[in-house]
Amino acid sequence: MTLRRFYPAIVLAVLASPSVATAANFETANFVVEAPSPELARKFGEMAEFYRKEKALEWLGHEMPQWSRKCPLQVQVSMGSAGGATTFTFGSDQSGRPIVSSQRMEIRGDAKQLLNSVLPHEVTHTVLAQHFGRPVPRWADEGGSVLSENDEERFSHDVRCREILNAGRAFVLRTLFRMTEYPRDMTVLYAQGYSVTAYLVDKGGSGREGRGKLLQFLGTGMNGNTAESWNEAARRVYGYESVDGLERAWLDALRTPPARTVARGTQPPAGDKSPTFANATSNGNRTELRTSAAPTMPLLEPPVRAVRGAAPDREPIRPVGARPQAPDYPPPVLGPPELPRTGR
Ligand SMILES: [Zn+2]
Repeated sequence: MTLRRFYPAIVLAVLASPSVATAANFETANFVVEAPSPELARKFGEMAEFYRKEKALEWLGHEMPQWSRKCPLQVQVSMGSAGGATTFTFGSDQSGRPIVSSQRMEIRGDAKQLLNSVLPHEVTHTVLAQHFGRPVPRWADEGGSVLSENDEERFSHDVRCREILNAGRAFVLRTLFRMTEYPRDMTVLYAQGYSVTAYLVDKGGSGREGRGKLLQFLGTGMNGNTAESWNEAARRVYGYESVDGLERAWLDALRTPPARTVARGTQPPAGDKSPTFANATSNGNRTELRTSAAPTMPLLEPPVRAVRGAAPDREPIRPVGARPQAPDYPPPVLGPPELPRTGR
């Protein structure tokens, strides 16, 4: 998700429902899929493997080794909004190296949206978890996963982040970076997490290179997860004097209209090296072109009332396990937030 949530009541209801009683299973090398029909189970299994390979290549530059335990993937197809949850348990291997010791994935919603947006989002969580072997800072875990969603979802997060900044609801990055749990205002975490993630990936050279640098940044910042460790990460990886400097640069970058995909199925003219086409990303046989948004889109207008909150020592982050209020976004969901990283 989208949101990582868990409703015992809904799960019980689902277990008792006829659709699940007749659910079909399909196994791939890494997933055990349960879906409403054999065709859907196969389709989701194949697509989960596809994204598992694609996202690992995008982020790590290599495929992940086959998981020793297959990841259960429960698919519920329903009308309306879509959501998902991936739950991890972390441990360590015999040499003490941190690893994912178990994981499971549940997704629910319209089949097309699940395949195009929710599934790649959830699979990206597995790539990030696999890389670090421990919990990834929430802003980057969600931001990096939103980066895998389709154009419309990414665009709406971009717009939402600007709205949040202008409304003074955003977190200062010193606070955001150190969050290990979801804040009360989960909408902010997703939108701002995505915006900062996308900015840093671009800043680091975009594509695989930019993602690799972001992973370096996260690894350095997570090492201690202190104000100093994140400042060090900002200095070492991106050349900013501090996280505050990074924040100023990110806000400056937002003072332009949001980018939007406007054309599909177009290829750049032969030999065209214009910045527009140079920045286009190829996705299968389709090329995305980015351009300015319509003037009705919210802009980040100076002065930026931008960031609220304070250093973590003055504004404690919501305690672990605390239950965020029901967000108006992202849309629903499998229930109230679980504790994705422990137990289960
Ligand atoms: Zn997510």
